[in-house]
Amino acid sequence: MPEYKTLQTRLIHSGSPRPRVHGAVVTPIFQSANYEQADPESYAAVTYMRLNNTPNHQVLARKIAAIEGTEAATVAASGMAAITAALLSILGQGDHLLVQQTVYGGTRTFLTQDAPRFGITHTDIDPLDADSWEAALVPGTKAIYVEGVSNPLLGVGDLPKIVAFAQDHGLITLIDNTFLSPVLFRPAQIGIDIILHSATKYLNGHSDIVAGVIAGNAAHIEAAVHQLNHLGGSLDSHACFLLERGMKTLSLRVGYQAASAQRVAEALTRHPAIDQVIYPGLPEHPAHKLAVELFDGFGAMVSFRAKDGDVASRFVEAVQIPVHAASLGGVESLVVQPSRSTHLGMPPAERRAAGITDDLVRVSVGIEDTDELIADLLRALDSATSTS
Ligand SMILES: *Cc1c(COP(=O)(O)O)cnc(C)c1O
Repeated sequence: MPEYKTLQTRLIHSGSPRPRVHGAVVTPIFQSANYEQADPESYAAVTYMRLNNTPNHQVLARKIAAIEGTEAATVAASGMAAITAALLSILGQGDHLLVQQTVYGGTRTFLTQDAPRFGITHTDIDPLDADSWEAALVPGTKAIYVEGVSNPLLGVGDLPKIVAFAQDHGLITLIDNTFLSPVLFRPAQIGIDIILHSATKYLNGHSDIVAGVIAGNAAHIEAAVHQLNHLGGSLDSHACFLLERGMKTLSLRVGYQAASAQRVAEALTRHPAIDQVIYPGLPEHPAHKLAVELFDGFGAMVSFRAKDGDVASRFVEAVQIPVHAASLGGVESLVVQPSRSTHLGMPPAERRAAGITDDLVRVSVGIEDTDELIADLLRALDSATSTS
């Protein structure tokens, strides 16, 4: 395998089979569930679609490890398949996890509703308040789980301190880095052990598959793959093909989207219908300095608080370019009012306590023309206020 130096080049070339399969420039779809056994003595030589080890899976695993800078990686059927397999591969009966207060809803529900049935408990921590972490430790604490930029309030934790704290206490660190993607942040570089993605979002980028990623050292990935094989969260070959294709443009897309998001955030700040714009690229963001130090950009998710919930509701109906839909990270911009969509299932009191009030709007900035997008957002805000 040739060595490629930069992320941009690795996204295109790393992991592709050499020699090429029949000379094919693009990895073909291997639509075969099972494979002739090469070495009858070794289970590792058994190739089977559920084991995520067909040629399509292997190309992705190598490409992802190359861009994350980790020894190994695997793909999974969804972000949640990656997250649950990774957690269950390191936690068992009696184990305890420290978790950033606001994490993706599916992750939170797994930790509150499912993990306790396996004897796994957790304590929420404020990822910016290092002095408070020690008190959350219990004898069974084994790992610490954070998100690079959290959903939907775009919080950023003090990641270098979290890594140092984990090393002091022998904890495994896990990060869900979906919102930033490896283009803007490669957590292995600061010593985070296990990196997770919903590849449904930026890695694929076209809102047409669900997929997940786990990256880390060889031992962690071997354990996670073992768990994933039992849970059955394999990625279909056709989805592998689409993910590989999507990843080739990751750096172009995310670079453009993040630059666009910065301008969107600045433009929204000036609109009278908005009380607060939340974006790590704005100096008033509580972790702006950390984000500048750690990341190569601030991502393409922008949240804001409108004057009230009705303005927020009218805004998401009034936009013409973004689609009013959940999920994120695709080429098309999306808007959502989290309290009435992604976080609707959360008990209202808990939701409000988490800061997910009705006035909150989350924008996933796509690759449309920035000026045209901003004009549409501002027009929608005008019309959302004029009718009130
Ligand atoms: C979407 C998302 C997930 C879940 O991913 P799926 O691919 O939908 O299973 C996990 N974490 C974050 C931050 C997400 O945005």
